[in-house]
Amino acid sequence: PEIIEHLRVEHELSNVSFHTWIQPLKVYDVIDNTVFILVNMNASVEYIEKKYLLPLKVCIAEITGTEFEVAFLSEDDDRIDELQNMAIEANQKKKTKSAAEKAGLNPKYTFDTFVVGGNNNFAHAASLAVAESPGEVYNPLFLYGGVGLGKTHLMHSIAHFILEQNPKKKVLYVTSETFTNEMIEALRMGKTPGNESSIEKFRDKYRNNDVLLIDDIQFIIGKESTQEEFFHTFNHLHTSGKQIIISSDKPPKDIETLESRLRTRFEWGLIADISAPNYETRMAILQKKIELDHLEKYKIPNDVLEYIATNVKTNIRELEGSLNKLIFLYKLDKNAPIDIALAAEALKDIISSENNREVTPELILDIVSEHFGISVKDIKSNKRNAEIAVPRQIAMYLIRSMTETSLKAIGVILGGKDHSTIKYGVEKIASEIEEDEVLSNTINIIKKKINPA
Ligand code: ADP
Ligand code: MG
Repeated sequence: PEIIEHLRVEHELSNVSFHTWIQPLKVYDVIDNTVFILVNMNASVEYIEKKYLLPLKVCIAEITGTEFEVAFLSEDDDRIDELQNMAIEANQKKKTKSAAEKAGLNPKYTFDTFVVGGNNNFAHAASLAVAESPGEVYNPLFLYGGVGLGKTHLMHSIAHFILEQNPKKKVLYVTSETFTNEMIEALRMGKTPGNESSIEKFRDKYRNNDVLLIDDIQFIIGKESTQEEFFHTFNHLHTSGKQIIISSDKPPKDIETLESRLRTRFEWGLIADISAPNYETRMAILQKKIELDHLEKYKIPNDVLEYIATNVKTNIRELEGSLNKLIFLYKLDKNAPIDIALAAEALKDIISSENNREVTPELILDIVSEHFGISVKDIKSNKRNAEIAVPRQIAMYLIRSMTETSLKAIGVILGGKDHSTIKYGVEKIASEIEEDEVLSNTINIIKKKINPA
């Protein structure tokens, strides 16, 4: 009704045309990007379409802020049945989507978007087999490989696939960090009267699943109680035939901090490694990314792609990052063509970080930003909300304790803060990790990401 009123006012319709043509229109349904409008029996769809389609589209866009397609239907239109089916389908899609969301999955990480090459075909095949028959073939499935080589992407693909087959399946994806922190939190809460059941709730959450995916198990470090709890979770799921999928940066035998009973269990199923992609696979990944992100319009010359694929070898996240950086630089100055010189500029930081991973304040900032999912710019800003201020203090603390940077220099790196602000931040984190186990676990994990042993 709001749209119809808007149309009347904006287009100065006469009363008679308004009452004859527009007022009887009803919105039948909105599916994906199309508004279907039902035209009553006495009016002609052709006529309304000719005269009012465009004004209606404009009004809808003005009011909703989104551009919709508009389609008219007459009451005897055959498409109405079809539409009902579409509506049902769209609804089901939404349901799988929310199941995927609930499971904590990135919608972009599916088998469709995963490029298979010699480096990952075994891990890919094993993942697909597990996705097709969870709990029946390889249990657990243990995926390992270096940073940025597609472990998380594959795990999400498995979870998406299972939920698409059957949205009712209980699928839980977490990092080992989340598992650890939630356990610490549950134990802590359980000590306060009235909350004794918090550890039960924690156990239910992890045991009551058809499929449990634990990412980056190498970060269950040094914590006996966490490993003990995970051991029981594992046994519970495994004996009831539920699927477990684990990822790590190393094979079980090389994770030194892992208890041997867990190590043995991780070796019960199938262990699959992912290694660095070869040149052809790197090119294929770049092509796939161009297709998925609709970057064809930039007409990136082949020699530029070859240049990137030649120089970024060991981390697919950085391979993708170089393409983003290239487009970013191009947009910044459209007079510069997309050529090898621009690509070299885009790759500057990435190549040096691939070759020498010295622990620098910049590296620490990058890793802290990635860990918390916030930008380096925000870390350097003056924003005071906790989601940013706490990571900022963690960055201060880590730079201070892992590099030889003075408080004053840290202040400069962090966007011009004075040395007392840095001192305060460093000391605050140092004293809080003494008491706050979740914080100290988080910091240990970030340290491991900065300095993988
Ligand atoms: P890991 O968990 O091993 O550190 P990710 O799964 O996060 O790595 O992958 C890093 C990035 O590279 C992601 O954006 C992912 O989509 C992409 N990626 C990794 N492997 C592939 C592949 N084989 N095909 C397409 N994209 C990939
Ligand atoms: Mg990962």
